[in-house]
Amino acid sequence: MLLETRAAPPFYKNGFVLACERTREGVIIDPGDEVEDLLAIVQEHQVDVKYILLTHAHMDHITGVRRARQVTCAPVYLHRDDNFLYEAAGQQGRAFGFQVEQPPPVDHFYVARLKSGTTSQGAAMGVPGRASEYEPLYFGDYEVRVHHTPGHCPGGVCLQVGRKETMGKQLFVGDTLFAGSIGRTDLPGGDYDTLMASIRNVLFSFGDDAEVFPGHGPKTTIGQERATNPFLR
Ligand SMILES: [Zn+2]
Ligand SMILES: [Zn+2]
Repeated sequence: MLLETRAAPPFYKNGFVLACERTREGVIIDPGDEVEDLLAIVQEHQVDVKYILLTHAHMDHITGVRRARQVTCAPVYLHRDDNFLYEAAGQQGRAFGFQVEQPPPVDHFYVARLKSGTTSQGAAMGVPGRASEYEPLYFGDYEVRVHHTPGHCPGGVCLQVGRKETMGKQLFVGDTLFAGSIGRTDLPGGDYDTLMASIRNVLFSFGDDAEVFPGHGPKTTIGQERATNPFLR
């Protein structure tokens, strides 16, 4: 899988381009101020962007949505519980002293599966890990499973990526967990206990070898954070 990360001042928020090396289908995750860098990668590798996926709707993660959508024509996905933040992008900007242009409306909220008591395909195949409560999304030979991880904000999600019908081991966690730190919970809709439950019950369930790509800073692994993160002792 092609996986490129870029970040730009002032927030140094990570934006990602993921693509299937065989089909060239891909996704953009959290386009922000580095959006032109992401679009240059898309062009260089001739990526056919199928989706623009948001881990959550804080300002720094959405300032590039308009431009990304304009260039790729791909639909924008967000968890429904963060739409109030998305719609208040301008206010979020003002609260931090930035002028933020309102991004275009979200095209789709992540779609919840009907509760049927069945497990996800991975679980059914005996692969350890947590069943996703949302419909998966696909690009080429890859699958994105969506897991609700509130706490930093109400509609935060972890995007679990891997080859189709395998246990994806690459986690795009937004601002829920960082290398050596955890997401802040003092912004509207944040809650510390909820964040801790998301980290321990959802993120830790992917196993120590799962790679974590946070919204800011370097990548890490679940094992590394479980063992050394001072906020998770
Ligand atoms: Zn955030
Ligand atoms: Zn952020």
